[in-house]
Amino acid sequence: MFLRKTTAVLAVAAALSTGFVGTAHAARTLLYNSTGAAQYDKEIEAAAAVWNSNVKNVQMRKARAGERANFTIVADPGWPRAQPTTLGNGKIWMGKQAIDQGYNITRIAAHEIGHILGLPDVKPGPCSSLMSGSTGGVSCTNPVPNAAEKSRVERNFAGTAKADLATVEDAA
Ligand SMILES: [Zn+2]
Repeated sequence: MFLRKTTAVLAVAAALSTGFVGTAHAARTLLYNSTGAAQYDKEIEAAAAVWNSNVKNVQMRKARAGERANFTIVADPGWPRAQPTTLGNGKIWMGKQAIDQGYNITRIAAHEIGHILGLPDVKPGPCSSLMSGSTGGVSCTNPVPNAAEKSRVERNFAGTAKADLATVEDAA
């Protein structure tokens, strides 16, 4: 028992020394269910892909049948909004009001996912900021977080990536 645990700790130490930690292997993966916003599926997938290619401590993908989602995405007639519960968990409403006014759907989805990842609104702000939301202007189509937004998400999930590593260690 003691030997097995020691081996696991050494394996983690080796991973740390080789710089293995911080790669996709240490990322926390969030699952989302967007069946309630099926008409925006393409844009939601594009928004998730933007986040996946811009941060490494957290990744996301659509939940498969039988998998419990970390966050759900639905469509409703109101203004887009998110209700984060704990970090990485919550609910997103793809408000049709903003979409009907011409706001970019992928940017809306990426912005609301930003809230689930622990980012606050930064309003008013420029189009180059994802969390400036609607204040970036109705013509703004940028779904990509800026450097500050990316690094804040990386910091938010740095601890959870380590927590996942500890879980793996326990199972060894
Ligand atoms: Zn917002």
